[in-house]
Amino acid sequence: MKYDIAIIGAGVSGASIARKLSQYNLKTILIEKEADVSFGTSKANSGIVHAGFHTSWKYLKSRLEIQGNLMFDGLQRELGFPFRRCGIIVAAFSEEELKHVQELYRQGVENGVIGIEICSRERILDIEPKLNPDVIGGLHAPNGGIIEPYRFVFSLVESALKNGVELFLNFKVEKAVRSRGTWMISSDDGQIVEADYVINAAGLYADSISAIFNAELFKIIPRKGEEYLLDRMSPAYPNKVIFPVPSGKSKGTLIIPTVEGTMMVGPTAEEVEDKEDTSTSTEQLNRIFDFSRRIIPSISERDIITSFAGLRPALESGDFYIDVSQKAENFIQVAGIQSPGLTAAPAIGDYVKDLLKKLDCSLIEKKNWDPFIDKVPRMRNLSHYESEKIVKENPQYGNIICRCEKVSEAEIVEAVKRGHSTLDGVKFFTRTGMGRCQGGFCTYKTIKIIMRETGLSYNQVTKRGRNSKVLMRKLGGDS
Ligand SMILES: Cc1cc2nc3c(=O)[nH]c(=O)nc-3n(C[C@H](O)[C@H](O)[C@H](O)COP(=O)(O)OP(=O)(O)OC[C@H]3O[C@@H](n4cnc5c(N)ncnc54)[C@H](O)[C@@H]3O)c2cc1C
Repeated sequence: MKYDIAIIGAGVSGASIARKLSQYNLKTILIEKEADVSFGTSKANSGIVHAGFHTSWKYLKSRLEIQGNLMFDGLQRELGFPFRRCGIIVAAFSEEELKHVQELYRQGVENGVIGIEICSRERILDIEPKLNPDVIGGLHAPNGGIIEPYRFVFSLVESALKNGVELFLNFKVEKAVRSRGTWMISSDDGQIVEADYVINAAGLYADSISAIFNAELFKIIPRKGEEYLLDRMSPAYPNKVIFPVPSGKSKGTLIIPTVEGTMMVGPTAEEVEDKEDTSTSTEQLNRIFDFSRRIIPSISERDIITSFAGLRPALESGDFYIDVSQKAENFIQVAGIQSPGLTAAPAIGDYVKDLLKKLDCSLIEKKNWDPFIDKVPRMRNLSHYESEKIVKENPQYGNIICRCEKVSEAEIVEAVKRGHSTLDGVKFFTRTGMGRCQGGFCTYKTIKIIMRETGLSYNQVTKRGRNSKVLMRKLGGDS
């Protein structure tokens, strides 16, 4: 259990760092308290690859956003996660808002955003015909995109594991002691990991982890964002991610075409005390829909299929805090990773690698590092010809388990083989249960497949690990 590097937290930050470090001759362990990776903030966000014009390059988060954005095409080729550069617009509905758009444009140009343009009313309606015709102009950044966030994290971790990184799930870091030049890290159930260097990428709990290691004291302020997911049949599905002109701390309530064909409205931005408070409310729902309809009039509550909330792990400074600790030896802070953390993540991996260099960590590149992972064919993306061919090779592709999202038995089996054995893990890997019926028809079939493939009994299958059991009684015909 002795490692060179321990990374605490398997969200998008920890996963990107793990993959980066897998390129070097290092023994690295990725530690996560949940039953699967990407179960923290990285699973509950807007899935946007931001364009780089919202904040000044003087912020670290902005510089990493710009660099991260540029890395996504290469990463998609290597890892195959769903990503599309659909472009981002900011829609202005008054002269006052148009002035603010000009400011954003100036900032975008200063930040080096490629292809950014100010649009007339005609131009913006041409690129986004769903907009309210009252729009008077806006901004277009064609380099912005959309991504499936959990699939991105899963693929980063898979690539890291393929290249030698180890993963400990269900390991909640509770104690740490520096002894004879290394860190002894203990979990709440008495497991111990020893590592020379530690990277704190614990999201909402980065402040607690920092305190456990006697490093800097700071407070993570959870900022809740409620989002509403609309059916893929919604007539409001836009071509572009649509931002309002921002006001205050947040980028505002957005209209987002998801990369898999549904759409989202949100998020809100509300500071909360409780780091586990992911509730949604009718009050925010009404506010979001009233606001969104001003931008796209065809948006309707009738198309809602589910809602969720994520918590941004923010710091008072409003910036990321990524640095070598001045108090704890060989300890790196990756804290305050609020938006645009998803976009910046690939660049965070590079940045942390350079911090390790500063700490004299020996970084020798592996000769046999493999950037690619095996792609899983998805039935919903195949042509008739391709479907027929794949079903002949593996009949499990012909057994469609989730009809809303067209997910086959073979894809669920593949998810389990790749280590996702909770209902949520399988759902995020395959999209089973993510469609209009929200698992009403497929959940029991998915549970049966998980039981068959893992050997777990009915009372051991969970929604998301620990005590989240889903079945109280046996399923018909099963043990
Ligand atoms: C509503 C919303 C919308 C957003 N939209 C976007 C967007 O469109 N684009 C964008 O770029 N960014 C967006 N973000 C921001 C982005 O989601 C975050 O910046 C990013 O997910 C943070 O990732 P992380 O890995 O730092 O944290 P997390 O994903 O929270 O990962 C931290 C991990 O550490 C683990 N952990 C915590 N404590 C312990 C412990 N004691 N022991 C072991 N493990 C531990 C947690 O379980 C968790 O898995 C959004 C955020 C929200 C909330």
